[in-house]
Amino acid sequence: MQAQPGDKVKLETTEGIFEGTLLPRPELLSNDITIIKLKTGYNIGIETKKIKKTTILETYKAPLAKKQAAKHNPELPTIAILSTGGTISSRIDYRTGGVYADYTAEDFVNMCPELQQIANIKASKIMSIMSEDATTTDWKTMAEAAVKELSHVDGIVITHGTDTMHYSAAALSFLIKDLNKPVIITGAQRSIDRGSSDAFMNMVCAVTAAAKWNGAEVAICMHATMNDDYCTLLRGTKVRKMHTSRRDAFHAINDEPLAHVKTNGTIEITNENYRKRNDAKPSVRKISNQVALIQVHPDMDLGIIEYHLKQKIKGIVIAATALGHIPITQKSLGPAIAKAAKAGVTTVLCSQTVYGRVHPYTYTNLRKVSMGLGVTYLADMLPETAYAKLCVALTEKDPVEFMKQNIAGEYTMRELDDSFLL
Ligand code: ASP
Repeated sequence: MQAQPGDKVKLETTEGIFEGTLLPRPELLSNDITIIKLKTGYNIGIETKKIKKTTILETYKAPLAKKQAAKHNPELPTIAILSTGGTISSRIDYRTGGVYADYTAEDFVNMCPELQQIANIKASKIMSIMSEDATTTDWKTMAEAAVKELSHVDGIVITHGTDTMHYSAAALSFLIKDLNKPVIITGAQRSIDRGSSDAFMNMVCAVTAAAKWNGAEVAICMHATMNDDYCTLLRGTKVRKMHTSRRDAFHAINDEPLAHVKTNGTIEITNENYRKRNDAKPSVRKISNQVALIQVHPDMDLGIIEYHLKQKIKGIVIAATALGHIPITQKSLGPAIAKAAKAGVTTVLCSQTVYGRVHPYTYTNLRKVSMGLGVTYLADMLPETAYAKLCVALTEKDPVEFMKQNIAGEYTMRELDDSFLL
């Protein structure tokens, strides 16, 4: 039998005997090199012709935890964990050297038995994607899976990739109508098979929030600090990933965090202004993918709107500069927006500064855009939230009216200067 990547091997070579895990040969390397990962963690390359004998010590096995059926505890709430992929579901694949989404919600329960002390867990895998690959159809699948479970559990946890977690959180906030219980989204910046993974603490806190928080909102639950102190619960429409790799990457924007969640099971409410658990009957709205999110920048190519019109787009979110400006004097975007409006396209606008709000009337140019071109200004709504909302709004009778309504806390009425960069 020939050794395969992932197998533990002993190589007897002209330069000595080496034991380790056989790795795939990176495409850039010549065919004549064999690479193994030594016990020390170092990789070495050996000229294949120098290998006199290869012995397979152990064939590669995917290190999945054993599945155990947990006993139902009638004293505990029941939580559905729906896994969708991302780093929290990933492990390093020693065959490819990459990270791939593989662990399911059920595996988490086996790897993190303390979850069963917080709640009875009903685990299922609804997809296995990296979140950068998510589509509006995936958002719909997540919403439908959550609504299906809501009638017989006390809360939902969705495990998700972190890259676009805030888009999904916003999308689910709009897609699920009449939400009655918490839908908590969590993930990890480091995969479970690394010592420094944030996955388990995030999971414990997310399940705690789903089981005990009195809210009926879609919220993200992730590390609040660089240390393993506690997690923060953030409203799904007012949250953004603000760092590529820090475990405390997620922050509330133009909003206060909803709560602090600790691994000892306590929840400290930090924002009383949230939708409470209720007896409503949730359902799923429809969604369109005919929306473009366009970032304004100096000397931008005005053809971008034309391009989207050709793709039969029905909605445009403009991430404008600061208070809501777009090029209107030189190289004006005005004619293209007017043409879009004539073609029945709904154009809405928010700020790329992320913090603060757009003001349609402060400057003459802003008046031209809001009143002259009929662009709807979205106050302090985040561009990503606006994108997800417009995807849903386009399937409603009056998309502009839907955009203006505060459906899921996406508009904060109060000025929250104190929460800037917190
Ligand atoms: N690219 C991954 C994803 O978003 C990153 C992560 O999960 O943290 O799915």
